[in-house]
Amino acid sequence: MGAHIIPKPFRQGARKAVADANLKIALDRTTGLLKTRRAAILESFADYAAARDQAAAIKAHTLDNWAFYLEQFEQRATAAGSHVHWAETAEQASAIAVAICQAHDAKRATRVKSMLGEEISLPRALEAAGIESVETDLAEHIIQLAKEPPSHIIIPAMHKRQEEVAALFQAQHQTPPDSLKVEDLVGSARRELRLKFGSADVGISGANFLVAETGSIATVTNEGNGELTCELPDLHIVTVGIEKIVPRLEDASLLLRLLSRSALGTEFTQYTTFYTGPRRDGETSGPKHMHIILVDAGRSALAQTPYRDMLRCIRCGACMNHCPVYGEVGGHSYSAVYPGPMGAILTPTLRGLESAKDLPQACTLNGRCQDVCPVKIPLADMIRELRQDVTDAGMTSLGWRLGLGLWSKAAARPWVYRCVEFGSTLVLRLLAAGRGHIAGLPFAGAWSRSRDLLAPPAQTFLGQYKQQTKRRSKKQARRSEIDV
Ligand code: SF4
Repeated sequence: MGAHIIPKPFRQGARKAVADANLKIALDRTTGLLKTRRAAILESFADYAAARDQAAAIKAHTLDNWAFYLEQFEQRATAAGSHVHWAETAEQASAIAVAICQAHDAKRATRVKSMLGEEISLPRALEAAGIESVETDLAEHIIQLAKEPPSHIIIPAMHKRQEEVAALFQAQHQTPPDSLKVEDLVGSARRELRLKFGSADVGISGANFLVAETGSIATVTNEGNGELTCELPDLHIVTVGIEKIVPRLEDASLLLRLLSRSALGTEFTQYTTFYTGPRRDGETSGPKHMHIILVDAGRSALAQTPYRDMLRCIRCGACMNHCPVYGEVGGHSYSAVYPGPMGAILTPTLRGLESAKDLPQACTLNGRCQDVCPVKIPLADMIRELRQDVTDAGMTSLGWRLGLGLWSKAAARPWVYRCVEFGSTLVLRLLAAGRGHIAGLPFAGAWSRSRDLLAPPAQTFLGQYKQQTKRRSKKQARRSEIDV
C-alpha cells in the first residue's frame, strides 16, 4: 500500500482535484467503463432483485447472530489448524501481526487485499519493525512505488495515467519496460514481483469473506497474486474485519456472485480461493502456519448505532463508481482509506465524527449509491442522518447555522419564501444577462469557483407547480363532465 493517509479537510482535497484535468479524464474513463459493464452483466442476471434481497437478509441475519458465527468460525478454523487471534483495536491488530512475523524471523512480507491492512496501519508497523512489505496487486504496486494512498477500494491506482505508470516503472524496476504498451508494463511488474514472491518469508492477506461453518477464508483476485502471496511462504497471516463473517459456503457463493458483478461487471473474478487451515500432512503446497487476526477496530461499537447496516458492506465499490461527487473529485479528496459514499459513512462512524465531519456533506443525496448497492445499504439516508448528527453535535460553522436558520424561517412562511424566491431569481437573471450562465456568485464564491450556474428558467418551481396543478384540475373537471 502507498503512503500514509493524513486527514485533511475534504474541501481542500476537492479543490485540488477539480483543478486537475487529467484526474477527471482518468475518473470518467474508468468509472464509465465499470458502470457500463455492471449494467450489461446485470441485464443477464435474471434474479438480481431477489439475489439482492437475499444478500441483504444474509448479512442482516449474520449481524443479529454475530457472536455465534464468529465463535463458530474460531472453533472450525482452529480445528483446521489455523491460529485465531482477536484484536479489539487497530493498534492491537498490527502489533499481533508484527509479533507473529518476528516469532518466525520474517524479514520480507508480500501483501494482498490490503484495505484492512491500511486501516490498521500495518505497513507502517511492519516498516517500524524492519520488515519489508511488498504490495503484490498491480494497482497497489503502482501506488506503493508512487508513495501515494489508494484512491478507490477496487482500483487503488484509478487516478494514475499510463504514462505516469510507465515513468514509475522506468525509474524503479530492475528490468524496466521497453515501451508504454500495457502488456510491457504488466510484464515489467510481473518480473519485479516474481523476485519478491520467491523470497518472501510471510504472505499477509485480507479476506473477502470468513465462512463460519468451515472456518475458511475466501479471497478474490484477478491477477493470481493472492495465491502466490498466501501459498508460497511458510507463514500466512490474515487480517480481516469481523463484519466479513457469513454463516455458510452457500452464503459466500451468493455474495461472490453479487460482488464481482457489482465491482467489475464480470460474472466471476479470475481467482476465487477458499483457504481452510495450513498445509496438511501429505500436501505438497500451502503455508505451514496460518494465523487469522479478527479485527474489531470500532465495528462492534458501530453495530450499536443507527449506522449498523453499514456493516453489510462487501466492498464492491459500485457506490463510488456511481457517485457524481466521487466522479468529480476522486478518492484522495476524502483523506481516508474508504472514499465515496460508503467512506462518507464508514470514516466518521469508525474514526470519529469530529475528524471526518465534512464527509457527509460531500453528497448530493441523489440516492444512486443506494440504488446500486448489492446489499441494499440505505447510504443516502444514512448520510442525511449523519449530517443531522454533525449539526446536533454543534460541529457546523456559525455561517452555516445562521444560513440554515434563516432558510428554515423563510421556508415556514409562504409570503417570505415567495419574496426571497422573487428577489433571488431577479438577481440571478441580472447576473446571467447576455451570457445564459453565471460564472461567479456573490457571497457563494466556493460554490461557483469551479462550475457555472445556468440562468434561472423563465418560470420558478412554484410557478411551474401551480401551472401543472391548474392543468391537472382542468383535465379532471373535463373528465367528470364527460362521465356525467
Ligand atoms: S456500500 Fe454497497 S455499493 Fe458501496 S462498496 Fe459497500 S456493498 Fe458496495
